[in-house]
Amino acid sequence: MHKYGTAAVNDRGHLEIGGVDVVEAAAQFGTPLYLYDVALIRERARGFKQTFDKLGVTAQVAYASKAFASVAMMQLAEQEELSLDVVSGGELYTAQKAGFPAERIHFHGNNKSREELEMAFDAGIGCIVVDNFLELDMIGEISEARGQAMNILLRITPGIEAHTHDYILTGQEDSKFGFDLNNGQAEEALTIALKKPFVHVLGLHCHIGSQIFETTGFILAAEKIIGKLADWHNRLSFESEVLNLGGGFGIRYTAEDDPLEPAAYVEEIIRKVQTETKKCGLKMPEIWIEPGRSLVGDAGITIYETGSIKDVPNVRKYLAVDGGMSDNIRPALYEAKYEAVLANRVNDPVEETVSIAGKCCESGDMLIWDLPLPKANTGDLLAMFCTGAYGYSMANNYNRIPRPPVVFAEKGEAKLVIRRETFDDLIKLDLPLGLPQTN
Ligand SMILES: *Cc1c(COP(=O)(O)O)cnc(C)c1O
Repeated sequence: MHKYGTAAVNDRGHLEIGGVDVVEAAAQFGTPLYLYDVALIRERARGFKQTFDKLGVTAQVAYASKAFASVAMMQLAEQEELSLDVVSGGELYTAQKAGFPAERIHFHGNNKSREELEMAFDAGIGCIVVDNFLELDMIGEISEARGQAMNILLRITPGIEAHTHDYILTGQEDSKFGFDLNNGQAEEALTIALKKPFVHVLGLHCHIGSQIFETTGFILAAEKIIGKLADWHNRLSFESEVLNLGGGFGIRYTAEDDPLEPAAYVEEIIRKVQTETKKCGLKMPEIWIEPGRSLVGDAGITIYETGSIKDVPNVRKYLAVDGGMSDNIRPALYEAKYEAVLANRVNDPVEETVSIAGKCCESGDMLIWDLPLPKANTGDLLAMFCTGAYGYSMANNYNRIPRPPVVFAEKGEAKLVIRRETFDDLIKLDLPLGLPQTN
C-alpha cells in the first residue's frame, strides 16, 4: 500500500485514516462512503502557501472548488486561508452559505449567465476571470448600471496544452476557453477592458491542463505570457498586477504516477517568472495558483462493501461493490486508474487478481481492472484510494442510486459533512401526473 497522508494499518489489520478505523466508520455511516484525511488537505494547502512565503512572493492559493465542493470543504479552505475558485452560481451559492469571504472568491467559466454575473456583483467577489467578449460586455454593462467596480483577470490561451506527459504547442489554440494570445483576441479583449470605467484589469490568467507531472508546460506558458506582457507594457502601458497560472498539478493515483511535490512545481514556476520579468524590465506580479486535485485528491478514499463475485474461468474474476460510476465516473469517463485494498484485512497476503465492478447497469461501469488482492469474500470492505477530487463532485444518480455521504476524519474523530442521500431525496423534485401544473 502506497503511503497517503495519515493512512495507516492498525493492530486489527484495519485501514485507518486520520486516526479513524475505516471498518468502524463503515459500520457507523454505511457504505459506500467517502472519507477524507483532513490533515492531508491542510498539509497540502500549507505546502503551497509556505513555498510562496519562503520565496517572499505575494500570492493567492485558490482552491478550485469544482474538485470537491461542499459547505464544510469551503470552510476548511477558509481555515487554511486559501482563496476559492467557483465556476457556477451553485458553487458561488455554496461558498456564500459556507461564509467564505467574498473578496477571496474568483469566478470562472466559459459561459457565465447574466444572472450569475449579477450574483457575483451582489456578493462583491474579489475577481471575475473573464473568458470571452460576451462576458466582457455584460460585466461592463452591469458595472456601469450599478456604478460598482469589479476586478477582472483575462483568461488567455497561450497556445500550450499539457497532455499529462507531453505538451502541444499550437499556433491557433483550439479550446473553448479564453482569449487566444496568438491571433490577437487577447489584446483586443485587453484594449476593450481597459476602456471600461468600472472594470479594473488586475492581470492575466491561464490554465494549461490537469494531472500534469512536470513544470515544463507552466514554464513555457509563463515565458510566453511575460513576453506578451512586455509588449503590452510598451505599447498599451498595461502592467499586470497579477499573473494566475491556474491549477493542474498532478497527483499519484497508482504506483505508475510520479508527480512532483506541490512545492516543487511552485518553486520552479516562481523562479521562472522572476527571471523573465526581470529580463523584460517588468515588476514582479502577484502569483496566483488554483490547485484542485492536488489539494484534495489523495486525501479522499471511497469505502465500498463487496457483494457478488463472478468467476469467468480462465478469463477473469469480477468482484462487485455497492457503488460504481454513480459515485466515481472517472474510470468510465477517462479510463482513470486507481489502487485499492481490503480495508478490513490490509495485512493479508495478495492471492489473486480481480476486477472491481460497479453496480450500475452499464458494462463500462468498472472501477478497477486487474487489481491484486487477498482472496475477497462477499461482505469485505474495499478502500479505493485517491478519490477525493472529481469523485463526489461528479457523482450522479444514474440508476437512481443515492449519493454516498462524506465524512471528514481528523485526529481520531469522524465528522459527517454531507449526509447520505435518501430515496425521498431522489424523488423530491418529481411531480406525479394528474397534479395542476404550477412549474
Ligand atoms: C479545473 C481547473 C482548475 C483545477 O484543476 P486541477 O487539475 O484540479 O488542479 C484550476 N483552474 C481552472 C481554471 C480550472 O478549470
